[in-house]
Amino acid sequence: MESKANSLRTDTEENKGAGGWFGYWSSLPLYVRIVVGMGVGFFLGWLLGENAAIFSRPAQIILQLLGAVAPPLILIAVVHVSINSDIPRSAILKLASLLLLNTVIAITIGLTVANILRPGTWSESTVLPAEGSEIAKESRVDPLTQLLGSVPRSFIGPLGDTPNVIGVIIIAIAVGVALRRVADSPITTAREAVDIAYRTLLVILHWIIELVPLGVLCVVANTVGREGFQAFVKLGAFVVAVLLALILQTCWYLLRVKYFSWVRPLDLLRGMRDALVMAFSTDSSTATMPVTYACLREKVGVRERSASLGALVGANFNNDGTALYEAMAALFVAQISGVELDLMSQLTVVFTSILASVGAAGIPEAGIVTMTLVFTAVGLDVHYIPLLLTVDWFLDRCRTVINVLGDVNVSCILDGRTRGDGLLQTEKILNAEG
Ligand code: ASP
Repeated sequence: MESKANSLRTDTEENKGAGGWFGYWSSLPLYVRIVVGMGVGFFLGWLLGENAAIFSRPAQIILQLLGAVAPPLILIAVVHVSINSDIPRSAILKLASLLLLNTVIAITIGLTVANILRPGTWSESTVLPAEGSEIAKESRVDPLTQLLGSVPRSFIGPLGDTPNVIGVIIIAIAVGVALRRVADSPITTAREAVDIAYRTLLVILHWIIELVPLGVLCVVANTVGREGFQAFVKLGAFVVAVLLALILQTCWYLLRVKYFSWVRPLDLLRGMRDALVMAFSTDSSTATMPVTYACLREKVGVRERSASLGALVGANFNNDGTALYEAMAALFVAQISGVELDLMSQLTVVFTSILASVGAAGIPEAGIVTMTLVFTAVGLDVHYIPLLLTVDWFLDRCRTVINVLGDVNVSCILDGRTRGDGLLQTEKILNAEG
C-alpha cells in the first residue's frame, strides 16, 4: 500500500522538481541512500585508514543537527498530543509496564545465551585488561573549528546565557523559511499555535534528514579507518553470541507486535526501514528519534499519541539492546577472567543492567560508560571495558537498532488491536503542506 503518506516525505518540492543526478538521488528511499552512504564510508575508511579522521568533523555536525531537533520535537510533539488528546493514566502505566517487561526479557535472553554458549571460554584468551580508554582526542581551536562550533547543538542553547550569534541566525533562517509554508494560517487558539510549531518543526526535521546519508558516510569512514576489523577475530565468539541474543530479542518484539497490536510484523519492518538503517549507521537512538517518530506516523500509521508515548517519551528510558549487551558483557568478562557468577550475582547483573540501560543516553558508546555500574556491582574488573571497545563500534550499532525497535514495539502495542486514523491524519497534514 504505497500511499502518499506511506513514503517518508524527505523529498521536498524543490527536489522533486530538480532533474538530473540530484533529482534521482533524492527520489531514492532514505534507507537506500543511507546504505549507499555506509558502503562508500566503509570503502573510504578501509582505503584511507587513519587519514579518514578528516570525516569526523562533518559527521559530528550532522549528528549534532539531528540531536538539536530531538529535544524541541519531544517538547512540541508531547505538548501537541497532550492538547489534542487525553492521555489516560492507564496509558502511562501500560507504557511503564511494557518498558520494564521488554528490558527484563532482553536481559534474560542475554544471560541465557551467554550462559549456554559461554563465549568467554571459546578460545585460549590471552587478551589482557587494557589500562585506559583512548577515546578522548585533543583538538586545536582554529577558525574553522570555531565556525563549525556555531552549528547549534540545541534549539535553545544559542539563545542562552552566552549567546552564539551565528547559531541564532541559523535557527532564525531555518524557522523563518519553514514558517513560510504555514505563514497564512490563522492563529486564534493555543492549540493552533502549538500545531503550527509542530508542523514547522517537522519541516525542519525533514531538511536535516536529507543530510543523513552524507553524515553516515562520514561516521562510517572515520570509524572503520580508526578501528579496523582485527579485534573481531579475537572477540569473535562474543560478537556472535551478542548478535544471536539481539536476533532473539527482535523475534520477541515481532511476536508481541503480531499478537498484541493491529500492525503486521513485516509491514512494520518495511515501514521502519529508514529508522532502523539510520540507527545502525548513526549509532545513536536519540539522533534517530525524529526519524523513528516520522516513520511510525507516516509509514506505519500508528496514532499520534502512541508514537509520542513510545518513541519520544518511552525512548528516553527504553534501551533494551543496551541492557541485553551490558548483562552479556558482564558474563563474558567473568568467563574470560575465570570468575564464576552465581545466581545471586546474576540477579544483581539483571537489576544493575536495568538501571544502567535507563541511565544510558541514546548516543554512541553510552552503554559502555554505564557498564561500570554493572561491573562494580558484581566485583568485575572495569579495566576489561576498554577491551570491549575494540568491537563496540559495531555491536553498539546493532544494539542501537534494538533500542529503536524496542520503542517501535511499545508504540505499536500502545496503539492496540484496532487500527486508528494515523495515516489519514498524517496525509491531511502533508497534503495541506504539499
Ligand atoms: N548507542 C546506544 C543508543 O544510542 C546507546 C548505547 O548502548 O551505547 O541507543
